[in-house]
Amino acid sequence: MKITSINPYTEEIIEEFELLTENQLHVEIKKSREAFLKWRNVEITEKTKLVQNLAMELRKEQRRYAATITREMGKSITESTAEVEKCAKLCEYYAENAAEFLKTEYIQTGEKQCYVNFEPLGIVLAIMPWNFPFWQVFRCAVPAIVSGNSCVLKHASNVPRSALEIESIFTNAGFPLNVFKTVLIDAGSAIKLIDGDKVDAVSLTGSNKAGEQIGAIAGKRIKPIVLELGGSDPFIVLKDADIERAAETAARARMLNVGQSCIAAKRFIVIEAVAGQFISRFTEHFRSLKMGDPMDENTTVCPLARRDFVEELEGLLNDARLKGGKIVFPDEPRPPKGFFFTPCIVTNATREMRIAREEVFGPIAPVLIVANEEEAVLVANDTEYGLGACIWSRDVDKAQRLATLIQSGIVAINDMVKSDPRMPFGGIKKSGIGRELSHYGIKAFVNIKTVVVK
Ligand code: NAP
Repeated sequence: MKITSINPYTEEIIEEFELLTENQLHVEIKKSREAFLKWRNVEITEKTKLVQNLAMELRKEQRRYAATITREMGKSITESTAEVEKCAKLCEYYAENAAEFLKTEYIQTGEKQCYVNFEPLGIVLAIMPWNFPFWQVFRCAVPAIVSGNSCVLKHASNVPRSALEIESIFTNAGFPLNVFKTVLIDAGSAIKLIDGDKVDAVSLTGSNKAGEQIGAIAGKRIKPIVLELGGSDPFIVLKDADIERAAETAARARMLNVGQSCIAAKRFIVIEAVAGQFISRFTEHFRSLKMGDPMDENTTVCPLARRDFVEELEGLLNDARLKGGKIVFPDEPRPPKGFFFTPCIVTNATREMRIAREEVFGPIAPVLIVANEEEAVLVANDTEYGLGACIWSRDVDKAQRLATLIQSGIVAINDMVKSDPRMPFGGIKKSGIGRELSHYGIKAFVNIKTVVVK
């Protein structure tokens, strides 16, 4: 069986890749197991040195890696370059802090000695999405590996070249072979790996559908799992917000990666008194967007990653239109080729529309008007998701009070939601289980072992 890498801008096939057969896969997993048994005993100072090398490797050929990302999944070269740099920063963060995070903890209990060790679990299977093809992998793999695990990557089927390049970055950084490994396999083969004794833990970043299926099998096998799933983040604009800044940030927060981000702002909840002003400024920002070649640094709207995503978004927009939504488009025509979807704002949006109920993974921005703060919180929480949220108000104390009422893993006040290696990242409700990044993330795949000496 083969998978194909397609350029979303030119619609041309870039490369085709053979998937591993079951036997080949088992050979690769065996190598990963052997690598783990040695790697777990390597001193933490050596491990962190190699993680530091990763940062250097990433920067050495940053532009080339960025071009691979852009060619395979269509995001702008500016965003791809920033993504590679962010991976390098994450490596530096764990290179500097991992030893401290994994240090033995001593606890006074009255016994002779009591302590807690953080020991690796074995092979972590990382099942990753295409939307940040480097960042998602590094975010999962670096803390898992620096704590002594080996990592096997099953990447999304549309980004195989990115997956293979990541493997070579680990090799070039000096990691022992097979500590990080990419396997080109389909979803069914990944499930079989989990539903057996081949891997010890699973990290999935992806859709809720995948989360339910993978979570069920990992649950059956009692394997530790981190699930980083979808989101429908509310962007709340209160009466006393700085409307100009809020509208400009709202456009960026919706348009990052052409809306294909789990933490993109997806529902704009605005207090009636300022709705007209907000919509007018928000629309102006949308009107200035430029569709075009992702390799051109002036392009602000790139194609979506796959053709079927365009059809999905058209379905969502039709539903909104039928239910009374008013759709505001920019003036620019759609380029003749490429998986483009014209970004739009939907006013008159209601909670019954699919765009307010489902995760909209693309540049559609519904504006939901509410009477007051109480209703804003109610609408914000009226979703099965709970990843991020934004609150805009000049009264920061009030915004902080409201933040406690929002059902999400992350709240940004007067800013957009962003991830940062120093801060824990993850969601509640159907947005996932567990946390990545920071010292919380590095503890996701360790055996927290208690030792008591009498
Ligand atoms: P996806 O279709 O769920 O795919 C993600 C990964 O899971 C891919 O490698 C995919 O492989 C694999 N997969 C899918 N179904 C599977 C199954 N039943 N068993 C085993 N593997 C399976 O998601 P996507 O379209 O790539 O990514 C978009 C989604 O990811 C959005 O919902 C987004 O919000 C979410 N996301 C969440 C975060 C976060 O941090 N919370 C970050 C980024 C993205 P194939 O490609 O071979 O199908």
